[in-house]
Amino acid sequence: MSTTLVPTSYVPERLPPNLPNEACETDIATIPLVAEPHRPDWQPEIPDAYLDLGPDELRERIAEARARLGERLVILGHHYQRDDIIEFADFRGDSFKLAQQAANRGDADFIIFCGVHFMAESADILTTPQQAVILPNLAAGCSMADMAQPDDVYASWDELTEVVDTSRVVPITYMNSAASLKAFVGRNGGAVCTSSNADAVLAWAFERGDQVLFFPDQHLGRNTAKRLGIDPRSETAVWNPNKALGGLRAERVRDSRVLLWQGHCSVHIRFRTDQIERAREQHPDCRVVVHPECPEPVVDAADAVGSTEFIINYVRNGPPGVYAVGTEINLVHRLHEEVAHEGKTVFCLDPVICPCATMYRVHPAYLAWVTEELAAGRVVNRISVEDETRRWARVALERMLEIV
Ligand code: SF4
Repeated sequence: MSTTLVPTSYVPERLPPNLPNEACETDIATIPLVAEPHRPDWQPEIPDAYLDLGPDELRERIAEARARLGERLVILGHHYQRDDIIEFADFRGDSFKLAQQAANRGDADFIIFCGVHFMAESADILTTPQQAVILPNLAAGCSMADMAQPDDVYASWDELTEVVDTSRVVPITYMNSAASLKAFVGRNGGAVCTSSNADAVLAWAFERGDQVLFFPDQHLGRNTAKRLGIDPRSETAVWNPNKALGGLRAERVRDSRVLLWQGHCSVHIRFRTDQIERAREQHPDCRVVVHPECPEPVVDAADAVGSTEFIINYVRNGPPGVYAVGTEINLVHRLHEEVAHEGKTVFCLDPVICPCATMYRVHPAYLAWVTEELAAGRVVNRISVEDETRRWARVALERMLEIV
């Protein structure tokens, strides 16, 4: 299936500063897997028979295999997935909503999670051992999650114990992190948060301790802390895991209410205030809504900020007009198509239109392969979290589901 981008008059004359002077190479139309320019970085284990299949054949084969599996199979699709994947999703949502879906689908034998690795891990933790969670392309990771390597977090925690009483530090990890880190926060009295409930989780943490170690996304942590009345300049500090004591002086560590891991989302870091200014010049009445993974100045300049689900509802429930959105392009594109007939125009603030590069790796050829294998009685690409990690990560995830 071919995908067209949102038609918009918002065409910048030049790229914003600090971005590579090149357009995104990724085309979000469906092309055979063999023709994908970045395929060498993707999971190599897929039978050759899938490499040349075009969009129509892939669609037919996925539909047929899925029909054979009936209600034994549930396909979950993250909002940032490509159109040619989302069309097969029984449920679509952000990571929080899909985690809830996975937890509620005790009747399904197989859950194919069209998202990235940490989401499939969370689904495995929240489902029963009898249910198999499958990630179509094992190379679909998350660059933000990779910025908090477990060994770095453990080492940082040890360093923290030398300057503060860590029994009063509550570790909070964003959903976008490895299962082993979710287990770490579960063991240490913390919780997982998502962009939907970060305010509530941070407030919960401050009922239990004096300080928060927040990882991996410094922007979500900073924007959330600020909303709770914490001064980002004097009461938060960025912890650089590559430097001794996070690159901070001991007093700064002690004085910071929130220590922010130095991580970011490669999609949301691209949004800038000059993009918002330009959008408002061209569409004076436009409403600007952005994701809280965007940098603080962008969040401050926007009319509204919230999770992916919040953004969707903001546009769906808003009046006719123009909406400039700071989040991933596949979602923005679908939102525009959904609401265009209501007199709404939705466009992405980022002039260099890139999807999330790792979500994009879930190509329909991989979905066809794992679904046909299931229909043939074989499970491939199962995501399985080992028992001890699962136990503590579940504690942290269940706290997340309870704190709303
Ligand atoms: S959009 Fe950002 S946080 Fe989400 S999967 Fe992609 S890189 Fe990770």
